[in-house]
Amino acid sequence: MFFSEKVSKVQPSATLSITSKAKAMKAEGEDVIILAAGEPDFDTPDIIKKAAIEAIKQGRTKYTPASGTKSLKEAICRKLNKDNGLKYESGQIVVSNGAKHSLYNALQVLCNPNDEVLIISPYWVSYPEMVKLAGAVPVTVKTRQKNGFKVSADDIAEAVTEKTKALIINSPSNPAGVVYDRDEIEKIADVCVSNDLAIISDEIYEKIIFDGKTHFSIASLSEQVKDRTVLVNGVSKSCSMTGWRIGYMAASKDLVNMVSTLQSHATSNPCSISQAAAECALTEDLDSEMEKNRQTFQDRRDVLVKRLTENPRLKPFVPEGAFYLFCDVSECGLDSLEFAKRLLKEKKVAVIPGGPFGEDGSIRISFATDMDTINKGVDRISEWVDGLAA
Ligand code: PMP
Ligand code: GLU
Repeated sequence: MFFSEKVSKVQPSATLSITSKAKAMKAEGEDVIILAAGEPDFDTPDIIKKAAIEAIKQGRTKYTPASGTKSLKEAICRKLNKDNGLKYESGQIVVSNGAKHSLYNALQVLCNPNDEVLIISPYWVSYPEMVKLAGAVPVTVKTRQKNGFKVSADDIAEAVTEKTKALIINSPSNPAGVVYDRDEIEKIADVCVSNDLAIISDEIYEKIIFDGKTHFSIASLSEQVKDRTVLVNGVSKSCSMTGWRIGYMAASKDLVNMVSTLQSHATSNPCSISQAAAECALTEDLDSEMEKNRQTFQDRRDVLVKRLTENPRLKPFVPEGAFYLFCDVSECGLDSLEFAKRLLKEKKVAVIPGGPFGEDGSIRISFATDMDTINKGVDRISEWVDGLAA
C-alpha cells in the first residue's frame, strides 16, 4: 500500500513512545526508573472526578456542540479574565481533545502549502510535525543554553521571510522550562505585528512556574496583539487531567469559526463527561491544591539541579517552569539518542533524548515523579556517566 507523502514525512512522538516503552518494561517487572513522563504524577482532584460522575448520572452523555458546551466556554472566559486579564466571549473559544488538538487545529486553519512557521528551538517535539501535517514548513530559530535558551526579537526578525505565517511561542516551555518576561514578550510581539504574523501562544504550563515568577500571556499586551494571537491552554497539566483530553483555544471569531468547522468534520465534540469535569476544574477554587503541587515541583527541581551539578560532565539548565530539566550531556561523548538508549538498556533509566526537541547534545529529565525516584535516577545516571570513556 502507498501512503500519503504528508504523513510519511512525520516522526512518531518521541515523548509518548519512550514513556510507553519504559512503562511496558516496568509492567514486565523490570526495575526501571522513569524520568520521561510528560504528565503530573498527582491524581485528578476528587471534586473534579465527582463532577464527572454526576455528569454521567445526569445523562450528559450525548453529543455537545462540536466546539464545546456553552457553559464550559463561559468558564474558560472567566478563567482567562481572572488569571490573564483577558476579555473573550464564548464565541471566541473552541474546546478540543487536549491542547495538542487545539494547536493542530490552529495550524490547519492558518497554513497554506509552503507557508513558514517559526519555532523556537529547543521545542516541544510535536510542533514541527504538526506544522508539516498542515502542509507548511517549520523554520527553527535556535537558542543557546548560555543565553538562557531564549530568543530575542532580533533573532525572530532575522528568521522572517515573505513566506512566514506564524510564530509559536511556549512559556513556560517544554523541554527547557524557559519563562519569558513581559518586556521580552513585548519586543517579540512587536516583530510579529510589524511582519503581520499570527502568534500561537502555548500556555499549557502556565501554573507550573517557579521562584516567584509569574506567567504573562502575549495576548494581554494590546487588542492589536490579541487579535492575531491564538491562545492555547488546557487542564491537562494544571489540574492533573492529561487523560481526560480537554484543551482549548481563544482567538478571533473568524479563526474560531474556521476551527469549529474543521472540528465538526474531524472529531465532533470532545468527550461530554470530560467537558463537565473541566468546567468543574475551572470553576472550583483549586488554588491551594495547585500551589501545593507547584511547590512540590519546585522542591524536586531544586534537588535535581543540585544533584546533577555535582557531576562535572553534566550541565543542567535550571528550569523556571514546567516539570522538565534539560541537561547538556555533550561532554559524555555520545549523541543524545545513543545516550538515552544506552542509559535505558544499561542502567534502566528512561529519559528523552534532546534530538527530537532540536538539541542533540542534551537530554530531557522529567521531575514529574516522587523524590525517591528522582534521587535513585540521578544516582544511576551519575554512576553510568562516570563509567563512560573520557
Ligand atoms: N504543549 C506542550 C508544550 C506540551 O508539553 C503538551 C504536553 N502534552 C501539550 C501542549 C499538550 O497537552 P494536552 O494535549 O495533554 O492538553
Ligand atoms: N507533552 C508531554 C511531553 O512532552 C506529553 C507527551 C506528549 O504529548 O508529547 O512529554
